[in-house]
This record gives sequence, structure tokens and C-alpha cells, in this order.
Amino acid sequence: MTAKSLEDIVALCKRRGFIFQNAEIYGGLQGVYDYGPLGVELKNNLKAAWWRSNVYERDDILGLDTAILGHRKLFFYSGHEDTFSDLMVDCRACKHRWREDQLQDGKCEHCGSKDLTPPRAFNMMFKANIGPIEDAEHFVYLRPETAQGIFSNFKNILDSSSQKLPFGVAQIGKAFRNEITPRNFIFRVREFEQMELEYFVKPGEDEKWHSTWVELRFNWWKMQGLSEKNLKLFEQPQKELAHYAKKTVDILYRFPHGFEELEGIANRTDYDLGSHTRAQAEFNLSSKVKSNADSISKLAILDLETNKWWVPYVIEPSAGVDRGVLALLNEAYTEEKLADGKTRIVLKLKPALAPIKVAVIPLARNNEQIVGKAQQLRKMIQAWGLGRVSYEDTGNIGKSYRRHDEIGTPFCLTVDFETIGEDPQKTAHRDTVTVRDRDTLKQERIALSQLETYLREKLQK
Ligand code: ATP
Repeated sequence: MTAKSLEDIVALCKRRGFIFQNAEIYGGLQGVYDYGPLGVELKNNLKAAWWRSNVYERDDILGLDTAILGHRKLFFYSGHEDTFSDLMVDCRACKHRWREDQLQDGKCEHCGSKDLTPPRAFNMMFKANIGPIEDAEHFVYLRPETAQGIFSNFKNILDSSSQKLPFGVAQIGKAFRNEITPRNFIFRVREFEQMELEYFVKPGEDEKWHSTWVELRFNWWKMQGLSEKNLKLFEQPQKELAHYAKKTVDILYRFPHGFEELEGIANRTDYDLGSHTRAQAEFNLSSKVKSNADSISKLAILDLETNKWWVPYVIEPSAGVDRGVLALLNEAYTEEKLADGKTRIVLKLKPALAPIKVAVIPLARNNEQIVGKAQQLRKMIQAWGLGRVSYEDTGNIGKSYRRHDEIGTPFCLTVDFETIGEDPQKTAHRDTVTVRDRDTLKQERIALSQLETYLREKLQK
């Protein structure tokens, strides 16, 4: 099941506290969103899953976290200052502004007029003033991709850890693009997060590694719960390739507005490392620094077998966290008709990604023993380190179940009279709880002594 429309998802996100429009109280900042108490958990779980499989489970990939503020030269020599732009047109009739390649039949989306200005390039990088002097010279870029932080630290990483090709550097962090027309909720925004991996390989082995990463990344998204029928690969045509790429294959997901890019896997060749190495010589000259071989960080690696320096090629799987969250929400959103004719909305997220893993519910909120036991249980389960556990004391168990179905909580535990041994008919149920399964709606009684093993096994899925 997936959502019927984007509106279903937007409404659920607002209603339950996943995602809010930024600065809504002042009319909202277009293309900028905030993650609420549940959204931040879902997003963190997605990022943790990526980090686990790319960094912790591999010996050949290291993590990194670089600054958001970007040195102007970094984005000049990376080619972004000159080429990181989209073509923009204005509608002369209604004055709306559009990205040229997104218009249908060359018509203004707002009023339908074809009276548009000729396209002109619009650089998408945000600038920010730095330091106390506000002039045209003292600015930085907010990075439009996290990758450049990896390239500029290439030598630091090599010098501080012994690596040989192939090896990779992974980074998760914010990126900023002044999109001309942000749209489709968190699909196209101006502030977003990326999960990027730069995998350095020997020239000549790049094509083989490119295919390997396309396959790995496609399968990874399937493992997060996206179904194969909603995923497909798309090779970008040559004329649409970014300035640094030799080949790019996109993983497309069927979002509510259609199949669009979720992740791109680019073969960036030696473009970036080569360009930053050459640029340092030029930069040193222009800054009147004495340029000699020692003052330049050669962004290359010495092959000990052949004693040759390689400027590695780089394969870059680059995924959008926000697009990932949207895809997961869309995939998980399910409306089910119940036997009583009512409809239940349930987010069938993979348990490992669910914002809340377990809700503990006291059956009688006025019974001190039940409440005490439920609170104790909540603390105990939280300490098992399975993820967020919540204590749910609404006094209406049906309402609690509805809320937890909608936010995707895999298990609701109820502490009742049987748990505290107060049900004379069922004394054998002392120290047991009922566990309700979100997907099957089945309820079973589990002994507290078995609970950790039971939950650990189910939540790791
Ligand atoms: P698009 O063609 O959709 O603008 P892109 O090809 O420019 O995307 P990349 O530069 O390959 O995107 O960035 C890598 C990933 O970052 C994308 O696959 C996407 O998931 C994410 N991303 C890029 N731009 C945005 C944006 N404006 N909002 C949200 N996510 C984005």
C-alpha cells in the first residue's frame, strides 16, 4: 500500500508531528521544513541505518563531518561557481518565475501564458557574509553538496589513517540549494540533508565499481522497505550530466507525484581531486605564496606496489535524506478497512525505522499499582537500547492504538490487572503483558522475563 496522494502524507505529518512548514507563524519560508518530535526520530533512524551499513559494517569506509560554511575557492575550483545553475524564465504576463526544464509545453504553470523571457542561468548556491566586514568580498557559500568537504580533506584523511585503494569516505549533513521552484513538500527544498559516499578507486576500475555501487544502493533501499515495483534505475543522458560526471545512474522512486530521483550514483572521475590539486598551484601564485611542490597538497595516493602516484577516480552514491523520508512515509502509508466498517490508517514502517518502537499503556490510569508497573516497564525497556519507548496515558486505549498505528509504532504493551496479579481468575498471568502487533493486530501475552528477547528479535527486522 502507498498513500493515495501527497496531501494524505502532508496531513498526517502535521497531525502527528512529523514535519512542519518552517516559520509557519509568519506565513512560512518557502522550500524550508522543520522536523517534529516523530520526524526527527524517523530521520535519525534512516541516517543511522545508512551509517551502519556504509561505515560500521565495512572496513574500507571511514566517516567524516565537515563544515557547512564553504570557502569560496573550494566552490570556485570545484566548478560550482561557474556551472551550478539552472535555467530560469519569467512569465511576462503574471511575473511568476520558473525553472525552464520543468515547464510543460513552454507554458507558465500559473497563468498558462507562453510569453516568457529567454532562459538565463541562475546559480543555486546561497551566499552568507562572514566576519565583521559586509562587502562583496567577504562571503562564504552554504555548501550545495557535502562532497567538497570530503575532497578538500582527502590528504588529511590519508595522512591520518593508512588507506589503500579502493576506500571510501562517508558523510551525512546539510546542503543548501536556492531552488527556483521548491515543490512537492520535502521532495524539492532549499535546505536538505544528504548521505554521501565518495568511494575512491584506481582509474580503469571505475566502471566496475560504479555498477557495483548502483546495485548495492538499489538493494539497500529495498531493505529499508521500499518495494521493487516502486523503484527503478535511470541513466542520465550525456547532455544532462553534471559538469564533473562521466556517467550517472539515478535510483528513481515512485513518489506520489511520479517517478523521480531518490539517489544519484555518479562516476565523478578524477575531476575534483585533480582540479583542487591544480588549483592550489594557481592559488598560491595569485596569493604570492611561494609555490613549490611541498606547499601543495597533492590530492593523490601513492601505489606502493608500482611506486606510482594515482589521482583516484571517485564513485559517488549521493542520497537525499528528506527524499528518503518522503519515500518511506509514502510506502508505509496504509488505509485498511476494519470488520466494523471503520478505516484504520497505519504506517507500516520497518520496525527498525519506526520513530517509537514500543508504547507502554496502563489499562487503568487511576490504579496506582498498574501505573507504577507501567512506568517501571517503560524505563526498563528504554534501558535495553532498542530505540524510543513511550508511556501512553491517555485513558482511552482505543485512542492510543489509533495514534500508534498512525505513527507506525510496531508494538503496544498493555499493563492490566492480570499483570499485577489482581485478577483472581488469571493468577498465572502475573508478570505478563499483552503485546499488540501493529500489522496483524494480534495480541499475545508475553512474560516479562521473555520480553527483551521477544522485542529485540522483532525490532531488528
Ligand atoms: P534534481 O535533478 O532532482 O534536482 P540532482 O540531480 O541535482 O537532483 P544531486 O546533485 O545528484 O541531485 O544530489 C544528490 C541527492 O540529493 C539527490 O538524489 C536528492 O535525493 C538530494 N537532493 C538534491 N537536491 C535536492 C533538493 N532541492 N531537495 C531535496 N533533496 C535534494
